[in-house]
Amino acid sequence: MFFHVRDLEVRAGRFDVDYPAGKIEYLDPKLRQAGDLKAAGTVELVTGSLGEIRVQGHVSVRMQADCDRCLESADFPIDSGFELYYRPVAEGYGEEVAIDQSELEMGFYDGEGIALEDVLREYVLLALPMQRICSEVCKGICPVCGQNRNQKECGCHAEAVDDRWEALKNLGSG
Ligand SMILES: [Zn+2]
Ligand SMILES: [Zn+2]
Repeated sequence: MFFHVRDLEVRAGRFDVDYPAGKIEYLDPKLRQAGDLKAAGTVELVTGSLGEIRVQGHVSVRMQADCDRCLESADFPIDSGFELYYRPVAEGYGEEVAIDQSELEMGFYDGEGIALEDVLREYVLLALPMQRICSEVCKGICPVCGQNRNQKECGCHAEAVDDRWEALKNLGSG
């Protein structure tokens, strides 16, 4: 679904979509959409701006990602409102304006408008946690034998050398 700036100049756009998995490419092989992504909201030009587009609405989707520690699939449900802004990529636009915190999530669009799929992908990626783990207490994979330690204790004794203690010992004997 594409929103042309020239249409937005006349009236705000609306969307109410139900995208099956595969409709949006997440460009991350560790990330999957499980079930439909539902999104509804509006797309409009910001009054008095030079072609700035505001997209706001609500997204709900169940994402799945490989856990960063144990590599098993973990669920990341998203069900929240969002608001994103896009500026046209144009020569000399907004030359070096001071960037305040709220502008950091400002995106850019190139050409005649924006594709809703791109906006939704961007929001989903923003909404996911930086560290994707299946649980706070995930024990991860044994560095010695590769066993998933959530499923079974492998009994390997990884000799963890704590450098701080080594340094203290050296000081004492020095
Ligand atoms: Zn895990
Ligand atoms: Zn092991």
